[in-house]
Amino acid sequence: MSSTVPHRQMYIGGQWVDAADGQVLTSENPATEQSCGTFPAGTPRDVDAAVAAASAAAPGWSDLGWAERARLLRALAAAIAAERGPLARLDVADGGAPISGMRGDVDQTVAEIEYYAGIASQTRGSSAPPAPDSLTYTLREPYGVVGRIVPFNHPFKFAAGKCAAPLAAGNAVVLKPGEQTSLSALELARIADGILPPGVLNVVTGAGDVVGARLVEHPDVPRVAFTGSVPTGRAVLRGAADEIKHVSLELGGKNPVIVFPDVDPDRAARAAVAGMNIARSNGQSCGSGSRLFVHDAVRGPFLEALHGRLGEMRVGDPLDDSTEVGPLAFRSHYERVLGFVESARTEGATVAFGGGRPSGLETGFYLSPTILTGLDDDMTVVRNEIFGPVISVLDWSDVDDVVRRANALPYGLTANVWTNDVTAALRTARAVQAGYVYVNGTGRRPLGMPFGGWKHSGVGQENGPEELVSYTREKTVSVTFL
Ligand code: NAD
Repeated sequence: MSSTVPHRQMYIGGQWVDAADGQVLTSENPATEQSCGTFPAGTPRDVDAAVAAASAAAPGWSDLGWAERARLLRALAAAIAAERGPLARLDVADGGAPISGMRGDVDQTVAEIEYYAGIASQTRGSSAPPAPDSLTYTLREPYGVVGRIVPFNHPFKFAAGKCAAPLAAGNAVVLKPGEQTSLSALELARIADGILPPGVLNVVTGAGDVVGARLVEHPDVPRVAFTGSVPTGRAVLRGAADEIKHVSLELGGKNPVIVFPDVDPDRAARAAVAGMNIARSNGQSCGSGSRLFVHDAVRGPFLEALHGRLGEMRVGDPLDDSTEVGPLAFRSHYERVLGFVESARTEGATVAFGGGRPSGLETGFYLSPTILTGLDDDMTVVRNEIFGPVISVLDWSDVDDVVRRANALPYGLTANVWTNDVTAALRTARAVQAGYVYVNGTGRRPLGMPFGGWKHSGVGQENGPEELVSYTREKTVSVTFL
């Protein structure tokens, strides 16, 4: 264990503990390439302890009733809001996204917890039409223990925000953060300590194929909610199969943006960059609109505007308020993204902007925002989620054909249609195979409306009342009057 960087312990049953075998992992600051903290490399035994603690705490948490749970969740939201600055700075150090984006993440987390506190009463059942000799009604009961597995991007927002719905519905949670950015999840536990009863929220850190896999297969975790990549989503489905669990999956995307000829190219290009989430999370966003289909008639001015917007983005120290693009979150991911750019070159595409380390930034996992052109739909960079600041620009001229191309990949998370023609917008929005479609969008989504992937991008919906209800199981009770 390093003596020069802070060590954080896991939080199980209201206690701070190290891994059962004492092993630790180290987080690297992607801007400095220096260690910024150590944390336990949890073991299956630690997961078992967390599940036991959660199982013990769940009935009492459920029996508190929705109003008391909502009160405690609001207290948690207020305590998080009071630590906005330090939480945002910790995520910047651990994950490299710019400070302005990470402050926004904390704000969104607070809003999300307050939202679920506000609708905590909505786990209601129904009753059958009145009958003279019987009463039949349904109850929505919490599952008990929910396993919540989250990815490395938006570390605090996903760790805290994605526990809000299962907790509001009356479940205890075992949270497993991404192993590259686990530090702020442990800060969440510190803030929740003393607000939530012991065992209601547990955080187990460590490797995905150890901690995550045990959580997924554990027989006392009937409900698993996973956010992450498609391959891991498949592993989660397989791992949950023996116990026939309720699994929801929020997975990756390779999201199309279809730019029609009637748009203002400058506005559409700015929106396209916003929709890539470059300024928020360095393009490491499931919803990034990374396949940009631009109509031939506006291609020239659109590309010029796109270059202009990327050219003005400040790449650098993510703790600096004026920085819009920080480093990618960790070394192997950086190398993976660079590998995609290299594959584009090898396969004959053009790197029309960026494509490498920005000058003056010799340390850190920095990549200039990148535009790729001269692509065809079969190239590696067009078919795969890159999860970085890399935009693939493709052309189109026939609307049916571009919709077919947009739908050709197995992903189906988001899609974006840019046009002033309302008929074209509505027709295209209907035709694209995606769980969330923006018309003239910049990637912003209102709280409370469902978000979830089609096809390989996921199963289930989050962000609204559907998610709350998904953490309950419905029981029908039929009473015959004697
Ligand atoms: P990942 O799949 O590698 O890891 C996600 C989480 O799963 C981590 O906590 C990891 O430790 C854990 N894990 C790894 N192997 C596991 C296993 N065998 N069993 C159980 N858990 C395991 O994803 P990542 O690289 O951290 O995140 C990037 C991916 O997440 C991208 O594909 C992105 O699109 C996706 N994502 C989706 C959404 C959404 O809402 N749809 C949101 C954010 C990120």
